[in-house]
Amino acid sequence: MNLRTPGPTTLPPGVQEALARQMINHRGSEFRDLTKRVTAGLKTVFQTENDLLILTGSGTGGLEAAVVNLFSPGERVLAVTVGVFGDRFARAAQCFGLDVARLSFPMGSAADPGAIADALAADPSITSVLVTHNETSTAVTNDLESIARVVNGADRLLVVDAISSLGAIDLPTDQWGCDVVVTGSQKSLMIPPGLAMVSMSPRAWEAAASSRIPSFYWDLAAAKKSLEKGVTPWTPAVGLFFALDAALEMMLREGLPAIFQRHRRVAEYCRKGLKEAGWELLADHERASNTVTAVKVPEGIEARLIQTILRERDGIVVASGQGDLEGKILRVGHLGYVDVPDLQPVVEAFGRIAAETR
Ligand SMILES: *Cc1c(COP(=O)(O)O)cnc(C)c1O
Repeated sequence: MNLRTPGPTTLPPGVQEALARQMINHRGSEFRDLTKRVTAGLKTVFQTENDLLILTGSGTGGLEAAVVNLFSPGERVLAVTVGVFGDRFARAAQCFGLDVARLSFPMGSAADPGAIADALAADPSITSVLVTHNETSTAVTNDLESIARVVNGADRLLVVDAISSLGAIDLPTDQWGCDVVVTGSQKSLMIPPGLAMVSMSPRAWEAAASSRIPSFYWDLAAAKKSLEKGVTPWTPAVGLFFALDAALEMMLREGLPAIFQRHRRVAEYCRKGLKEAGWELLADHERASNTVTAVKVPEGIEARLIQTILRERDGIVVASGQGDLEGKILRVGHLGYVDVPDLQPVVEAFGRIAAETR
């Protein structure tokens, strides 16, 4: 199967081999060396010298960890949302009693940094901004560099969901001043689901010191303390650490600039091919994502039927729309272990379906 969902993504052969390894002691020297190596590798991919913590859980666990470690009940935060994942981050904050101001933008559009600046200027009680770098549900990449400039200029904390961008789309964490950046294992990092990674700036640790939300499993201060000894507070997903080690070696060998360029090339090929085949895309052209493309399903055609045809006739698996977009779009993932030849059959298959339904 040509797995073209925006996570989980296809595993490279070297990662599959790493997953077949025998277990080791997660409190022994071999695991300590492994932890040091993957943490250093991740810091390179995050482009940060901040603390970098690896948690066992899905990406959402990383978002929850950020919320419970940084904030207090009643604290006012601005949740910038352009789709399902922005809404999810806002809901996670609400769940722990935060006072969430939502700034939403239409599906397919990116967030307007000027509107964020206005919202922060109008409400001095907002301490922090939660934002999605790449909105996987609409295939839109926010202008995080401009958003970070606005948030830093207003002296607020910036917390970024980079789960479907980090390691595929440029995100210089330190240069842009992103206090907290969260990603997950099953997207650009090319390993199975089950790990979340969180970077924490000194300013984020300061906020964490006064947080009044209790945390136990997601306690990042405990994770940092353990990491100083090369371990994790709880038993980690050891097998995924093996996989991460193999994936990071591949990524560092290719180099970040080449990885970003490859994702740009694949995304442009995909968008151009689908448009030429007569499909309309959801995302605004200038902010279209380099990791996922959302195709509009024409009126009167069942999205599910297209998915079935792609799967059964062409061996291609694409993702459905989420939330309000269910049945209205299909999403083609092109992140991680991917290059143009993986998308060529997808563009061709969509072309055949367009011709048949016309
Ligand atoms: C995939 C994704 C998530 C959710 O991660 P899970 O691993 O499913 O918990 C959150 N945010 C974005 C932007 C994503 O793409």
